Amino acid sequence: MKLHPVQTLVSRCIGHLSRQRYDVIVVGGGHAGTEAAAAAARMGAETLLVTQKIQTIGALSCNPSLGGVGKGHLVREVDALDGLCGRAGDWAGIHFSILNRRKGPAVWGPRAQLDRQRYREFIQGELLSIKRLTVLEGSVEDLLVTEPNPDEPGSHRVTGICLENVLHPISASSVVLTTGTFLSGSLFVGQTTSPGGRIGDAPSSAGLSRTLKETLGLRVGRLRTGTPPRIVKESVDFSLANVHLPDRHPTPFSFMNTHTRCKPEEQLPCHLTYTTPGVERVVQESLHLNCHIQQDTKGPRYCPSIESRVLRFPGRRHLVWLEPEGLTSDLLYPQGLSMTMPPEVQLRLIREIPALRRAEIHAPGYGVQYDFVCPTQLSSALQVKSTQGLFLAGQINGTTGYEEAAAQGLWAGVNAARQAHSMPPVSLSRTESYIGVLIDDLVSRGVTEPYRMFTSRAEFRTTLRPDNADLRLTPKGYELGCVSSSRYQEATRVQNSLQEAMTALQALTLSTNSCREKLPDIRVSETKSTVLTGMELLQYKELSFEMLASVFPERLSPYLEFSQRLKIEAVYKPHCDINKKEIERIQREENMFLPPDIDYFSLPVSLSNEAREILDRVRPTTLGAATRLEGITPAAVVNLYNYVHFAK
Ligand code: FAD
Repeated sequence: MKLHPVQTLVSRCIGHLSRQRYDVIVVGGGHAGTEAAAAAARMGAETLLVTQKIQTIGALSCNPSLGGVGKGHLVREVDALDGLCGRAGDWAGIHFSILNRRKGPAVWGPRAQLDRQRYREFIQGELLSIKRLTVLEGSVEDLLVTEPNPDEPGSHRVTGICLENVLHPISASSVVLTTGTFLSGSLFVGQTTSPGGRIGDAPSSAGLSRTLKETLGLRVGRLRTGTPPRIVKESVDFSLANVHLPDRHPTPFSFMNTHTRCKPEEQLPCHLTYTTPGVERVVQESLHLNCHIQQDTKGPRYCPSIESRVLRFPGRRHLVWLEPEGLTSDLLYPQGLSMTMPPEVQLRLIREIPALRRAEIHAPGYGVQYDFVCPTQLSSALQVKSTQGLFLAGQINGTTGYEEAAAQGLWAGVNAARQAHSMPPVSLSRTESYIGVLIDDLVSRGVTEPYRMFTSRAEFRTTLRPDNADLRLTPKGYELGCVSSSRYQEATRVQNSLQEAMTALQALTLSTNSCREKLPDIRVSETKSTVLTGMELLQYKELSFEMLASVFPERLSPYLEFSQRLKIEAVYKPHCDINKKEIERIQREENMFLPPDIDYFSLPVSLSNEAREILDRVRPTTLGAATRLEGITPAAVVNLYNYVHFAK
């Protein structure tokens, strides 16, 4: 792992731009913007990243952590497409753990607590090392928009940007907007409201919002989120909280890393504590002093403020995680205590928790409300359908979270570069990736509250696992041009080795009698066939690849490096084979006719109300036409196929 000092990046960016025209301009240096700019440049586009402050590139606005259930899948996929966040997580992680370990590996959630400073340094250093990428500090005041073509009413084209206090516009074939929580952003603490995108940062210019709404006619909504106060570590009584240690063997996010920067013994613990009735009392007593919470704007359901938690679930105690902000930081992040009441009330509230009874607040919590663009107005390439050359990614599309932003940013960057090179757009399907699920959900269903990823959103979970994101996406990314040849070579080596190992496992057989003798730890069922292949044996929970390799050292020990991956492949093989067949069958049955009089509302199959409404409204004539409808998931198509096929 290499690192460039932040200072170098700052000095490189100040000065004159070498050109007034770029292939791609990315607005915003958050999680979406940095991935978009890096991806576009990797794709061969001359790219300009413009952001308000160079020092905040790669800033973690809220919690210092990456990954988790569903989110960890996105990080692995971004990494498989050569994005930055996975490697940044490995560089900056100070507490690695796999969440959901009690469930199957398909839904494990790789997660790490991060050192804020290290994360920023890594992202900034990486951007510096990318060819064809220029970073400029500045605020984008407006978009350059051409008048609509009279033959195509309502169709605009974005041709560049105008910077605040700079006379000359900068033109580009594609512009990617990733303004996060900054579009018409307002900050809230207690009864005070002020314009801002994040504490210490001004909102995006009003001109940008106006152009999106008035000139381009885009539908815009409003959402909110909030962050907890930061607490002085020294003032916390950790003896009154439960300690949680990181995994003994940290699992890196990146397929290119075999270990994390922070050694296992250097990792820091987190602590768990709970709210008390006193916390609830302070929330209730201070509601009239809290204007953020009094508004109707929707906040993040899965990362709610303490006010929302207490109001929705009165009388319950709620979890509070005390998480380190960095390896040497003096501060703690109290996850679960996002709040927007006046600072003195915040202090009163946290002191109702025994471990925090003498706690000091370094910076109070606050809320932010911002505009988002309704994402149903985008194509699956994340381009605004009615406006050529304009792509949107990240929180501006109604999502919440660094991982969701990074995933969209990468894909918007790929497509912005393709459009600049006059190439057709590309999309990722729900059957091949969580990024595909995320984008499809956004563009086909839209959002009514901040959207975050969960594994339950994917229909083919057993295939879309965090362990195999490289096999699913790296070859495609290489073909598109956003993956380096070194990563592609590594993914190919892994793929070939896994294939060889699985062939060896398939060829290896053991009778049930020999199993009992050589592998006494596994209980082979009497009813099972008398001969089992290595692949079938590995499906036994108690048997690891290492145990099997010790029985067949010559044939299996060359693959010990892939022990865990092979075990997972074997366990999920039967499910994945069924999934694959279902998907192939649907593809073959594209032309199957759907009866014109079908009553979708009473169809006795598992279909969401939303899917039934869409099918009833559109009445597709063939299965293929149903497949291509926005809002119709592959699982819905499988169920529809089964019904029509077997009802014949
Ligand atoms: P951001 O990370 O917000 O980055 C936007 C970037 O665009 C910034 O660098 C900004 O300077 C730049 N920019 C904006 N306008 C312009 C312009 N006109 N010209 C140039 N540059 C511009 N996520 C959760 O998952 N859970 C939470 O509980 C949570 N709470 C949050 C609380 C707060 C107070 C905030 C601010 C964020 C919170 N987040 C939370 C959201 C998380 O920070 C975002 O989801 C994530 O950062 C979005 O990434 P992004 O790239 O879309 O935008």
